[in-house]
Amino acid sequence: MLNRMICRLQSLDTPQAIAEPLAQPRSKSRLPRIILSLLVVIALPALGLGIAVLKAHWSLQQQAREATHKAITTLDHMIANGDAASLAVENLAGQPCDYSVERALQRQVAIVPYVRSVHLLQHNRLYCSSLLGKIDEEDDTGSDGAARLQLKEGNITTPDVPILIVRRTTNEGSALAVVDGRYLHTALQLAAKNSELFIIVGNNYMDKRGHVGHGSTPPLELAQSTLASKQFPYMVIAGSPSGSVKRYLLDYDLALLSLLIGAGFVCGLACYRLLGRPSSPRAQLQRALEAGEFEPFLQPIVATEDGRWIGAEVLMRWRLPGEGLIRPDLFIPMAEQTGLILPMTRDLMRQLAKALAPHMAELPSAFHLSINISAAHCHDPQLLDDCREFLAAFQPGQIELWLELTERELIEPTEQTDALFKQLDAEGIKIAIDDFGIGHASLNYLQRFTVDALKIDQSFVARIGADTLSGHLLDTLVELAERLEIDLIAEGVETAEQRDYLQALHVRYLQGYYFGRPMPMSEFIHALRNKRPADIDVATEIQP
Ligand code: C2E
Ligand code: CA
Ligand code: CA
Repeated sequence: MLNRMICRLQSLDTPQAIAEPLAQPRSKSRLPRIILSLLVVIALPALGLGIAVLKAHWSLQQQAREATHKAITTLDHMIANGDAASLAVENLAGQPCDYSVERALQRQVAIVPYVRSVHLLQHNRLYCSSLLGKIDEEDDTGSDGAARLQLKEGNITTPDVPILIVRRTTNEGSALAVVDGRYLHTALQLAAKNSELFIIVGNNYMDKRGHVGHGSTPPLELAQSTLASKQFPYMVIAGSPSGSVKRYLLDYDLALLSLLIGAGFVCGLACYRLLGRPSSPRAQLQRALEAGEFEPFLQPIVATEDGRWIGAEVLMRWRLPGEGLIRPDLFIPMAEQTGLILPMTRDLMRQLAKALAPHMAELPSAFHLSINISAAHCHDPQLLDDCREFLAAFQPGQIELWLELTERELIEPTEQTDALFKQLDAEGIKIAIDDFGIGHASLNYLQRFTVDALKIDQSFVARIGADTLSGHLLDTLVELAERLEIDLIAEGVETAEQRDYLQALHVRYLQGYYFGRPMPMSEFIHALRNKRPADIDVATEIQP
């Protein structure tokens, strides 16, 4: 079981695995992405539909207004003709219906457009007609008989053809000009193509289809517009029944709406793809930092002579929700490139101080805590403050703070770095050169900075017993450290053979799986308290 887990951990060393956590946050849930994309799919056609509906309302209103104006203009013109015919014969009202009167009436019908017949009336009786000559009929115009205009469904001659009567009254009687209703009907039809349109005369109305009704016009729910004639006592009403907007949209905006639905789908798809793209590695690290996902693990450092835990190296882990633990070599290089390593280390030190300070009594005195720093730290004046803040959390002398400087990134020595290292030294903070022996900067560092210890790179330790050359190299490193009077720490110790070899070389401190794997702080404290390092569960850092 253990072997299988170790294999899984080792398999993460492939380059593919290294790119993975920062390229694609696999835990990203699809649901918000789908919901947002669907909203985009709906939003565009919905917005388009809203605008199209507003436009349809506005357009219908506009059409109704135009229809009333057009209708009034045409109807006024027709009625004025009828009025002109009545005016022409009104002086004949009351005169006997003889040949000359009859001819005068017929003349009006012949020369005045829209006028179908002209009649004379006296004492509520029609007595002379352009059509029938002398007649004697009761005026059937009812209570509004004296009205200047009358709209009727028909008369005796043509009961099915509506008529409009234009009346002029004198002291002697009245002259009536009958305008054929079919002209009105045509005028209404031409004035309003899409709207409904009514001419209202007294209590009667005529619609676009030529039907004459009594009382109020059928309801027009939308875009109603009313206009009264300034010349004659009638008015027109235009408007649209409910459902007109839908019809208007289908007639005029169907193509636009289809286009918008298509565009909505395209945008939704684009949105889905965009949201699926991993955010920048910097943004992912920043988010993880804010979410407190980086935490310190501790790996024991032991005194070679008796195997006592004299300290620990602090190794960062990323606890990515849904993914488990991510090893530092998968994200530290990116953190260094983006500069986020500075706040990440600060956060790590704060977590460490907070967790360890309550257990000071259980820690051996001058407990050695090794923190890895990067090149960027060496140009960051805040490093000193961070170290001071960290040490202030403990009793004086309780903790010995070591900073491990790796060769991975080359540190450019400047006056600023010199000053910083001097100040660190003055605070009693030690400097160790990490991975010593594999980079070319090591010797430069030794010359430039006050170095307190060298950490022999684990590749040398791994080759112990394998070849004689690595044995010679180790001997040389030990000699160098003795000459410079600095401490030596060997890391990557995995076997008793390696331990014995390093012990024989008088390497002062050892670190490696043989003594304990990196573990969460609580586990480290527990193991330290029970002094049973062999019992420590090495599986803790294996990703699920
Ligand atoms: P490093 O500083 O050289 O840390 C030692 C690495 O060797 C650790 O890997 C540790 O788990 C591993 N190790 C310890 N004992 C053994 C052993 O017996 N056998 C083998 N094969 N490996 C052993 P880890 O924790 O994965 O860290 C990798 C590197 O990431 C570190 O190398 C260090 O350079 C960097 N790193 C870790 N934490 C931090 C941090 O907080 N800040 C910075 N700047 N770098 C960090
Ligand atoms: Ca280190
Ligand atoms: Ca190292």
